[in-house]
Amino acid sequence: TTVYLNGAFVPASEAKISPMDRGFLFGDGIYEVIPSYAGRFVGFGPHIERMHSGLAQLSIDPKLSLANWQSIADKLLADNRAELGDNIGVYFQVSRGTDSKRGHAFPANITPTVFGFAFAIPPEPVADKSKATTYNVVTGQDLRWQRCHIKSTSLLGNVLHYQQGYSQGAQEILLFDKDGNLTEGAAVNVFVVKDGVITTPPLSHKLLPGITRQILLAILAKHSNIKVEQRDISEAEVLAADEIWLTSSSKEIAPVLQVNDKAVGTGDVGDVWLAVQQLFSAHKFDY
Ligand code: PLP
Repeated sequence: TTVYLNGAFVPASEAKISPMDRGFLFGDGIYEVIPSYAGRFVGFGPHIERMHSGLAQLSIDPKLSLANWQSIADKLLADNRAELGDNIGVYFQVSRGTDSKRGHAFPANITPTVFGFAFAIPPEPVADKSKATTYNVVTGQDLRWQRCHIKSTSLLGNVLHYQQGYSQGAQEILLFDKDGNLTEGAAVNVFVVKDGVITTPPLSHKLLPGITRQILLAILAKHSNIKVEQRDISEAEVLAADEIWLTSSSKEIAPVLQVNDKAVGTGDVGDVWLAVQQLFSAHKFDY
């Protein structure tokens, strides 16, 4: 595998980062994951925009433009496609940089560490009920910090919540804030469907502004008449939903069939999911 590190494309085995990097010592950095299929990215611009926004909130400036990121990503695809195939995710990470003093304050005049690599992702999800990858989830109280809108490399809170679900045999966990409202999953945004209405929690510091969520909302607004609401969703509403979906860049829109071992709706992949995944598949490359 060829990776990108600080301006150079090198074999992964030769890429070296100091143990004094603040990404390693503090999780002081931002990351991004962008999916591509047969060389075409989904949401490249929005993904880079979110990364720039996160970096700005941390006062980290890697001095790379959208065009710079695009050429790095294109070269990672070109150099790794023979090995990885058509379905490739590009991972970018920018940390504040290396500082031997390990002080908490932002050190003056350090250079951000910029890393990128390509990895194989599952094939494009298809709008076919019998081919959907489905999920069983559990519920739990969201115990993460209050800056969940930042795509921080400090993922321990998410890792612990994912493991909380995994140890119960689930493949994701639906998290609820202290008021009992749905936030998101460990690595996904969440949508629920009731009586034909699609609902998802509004953006706030409690959840990541998912690019799949953003693109899906844009597609629904432009190409469908289905009613969509962004509002608080209680645990009771989640448990009574006809359909529940998880969204992320690699999953696109994934149906949940069980919550806490109880069937969601009919217990099968839903009709609204089918219609919406169809729309997403048809229009996602426009974003
Ligand atoms: N929420 C969290 C906590 C995530 O880590 C992710 C993605 O990994 C998402 C939501 C979905 O975001 P996106 O659609 O941009 O992949």
